[in-house]
Amino acid sequence: MNFLSQLTGCFAQPCAENPTVAMVEAAYQHHGLDWRYINCEVGPDKLGDAVRGALAMGWAGFNCSLPNKVEVIQYLAGLSESAKIIGAVNCAVRRDDQFIGENTDGKGFLESLREQVDPAGKSLVMFGAGGAARAIGVETALAGLAKITVVNRSTGRGQELATLLREKTPAEVDFVQWDSEYNIPAGTNIVVNSTSIGLFPDVDARLALNMDSLTPDMLVADVIPNPPRTNLVRDAEAKGCTVIDGLGMLVNQGVIGIKYWTGLDADPTVMRAKLEEIFAG
Ligand code: NDP
Repeated sequence: MNFLSQLTGCFAQPCAENPTVAMVEAAYQHHGLDWRYINCEVGPDKLGDAVRGALAMGWAGFNCSLPNKVEVIQYLAGLSESAKIIGAVNCAVRRDDQFIGENTDGKGFLESLREQVDPAGKSLVMFGAGGAARAIGVETALAGLAKITVVNRSTGRGQELATLLREKTPAEVDFVQWDSEYNIPAGTNIVVNSTSIGLFPDVDARLALNMDSLTPDMLVADVIPNPPRTNLVRDAEAKGCTVIDGLGMLVNQGVIGIKYWTGLDADPTVMRAKLEEIFAG
């Protein structure tokens, strides 16, 4: 075990079985990598010390979860292009003895989307305008989406994201305030839930969405990883849509992080199987 030069870390919440830790370590074990991925709880007041400590101890990088995704930026040496636009970092990578901030959330989503459809030239309706939506909106728009409609409950956050996407990407962008049952416009190719609706323990929650406006030619993606089979996933499947659950994004952001840190192309099926085991339990 090499603790000095090959340690990756996750600044996150303490939890006996953190799904991300279990998922990444399953990949390390599967590929025979003598690496560790550990979970450390770090509040905003100690974030600078933690980043300097990780650098001093030779960590290859770390993941960063809420509430540290924006706060951490000031302690990093630079940002990737999309992390700069998104304005948040969930993954730091050691390059030239410095940490560079990446955002792998949107890239992970894009990867699972591309397994089903090429977003170039497509139109997308996205519920939500928080951190996940920013990452997904920026990456899919940079990947060539023709049109993106941001549908969000609060006007301020929704308009802010729509303005960001309009200014920083070539996509055509609309904002719709979400205060009643939403009808997906005919001709929409991709529908994404990037709100927290449906996340455990509120598993019975449903989006205010007219399910009759979903047609079988649409792809419906949910970011909720726990439980993976949300009401939206089930309802969209019943309408004949192609569906992508939230495990796709979570697994793929992990695959991308492992590649950045170790250079290895990790097997996503091993990582998904570990998450399914945890979320089924
Ligand atoms: P934020 O808190 O930044 O944003 C939450 C969004 O959900 C906002 O747009 C908020 O609207 C909306 N929202 C929440 N509750 C409701 C509701 N009852 N009705 C309507 N809108 C609602 O969270 P994140 O963007 O960081 O995370 C969102 C979800 O994405 C989480 O559940 C998280 O688990 C998941 N996620 C999954 C990942 C994966 O790998 N699968 C990666 C990252 C996140 P408003 O602006 O009006 O408050």
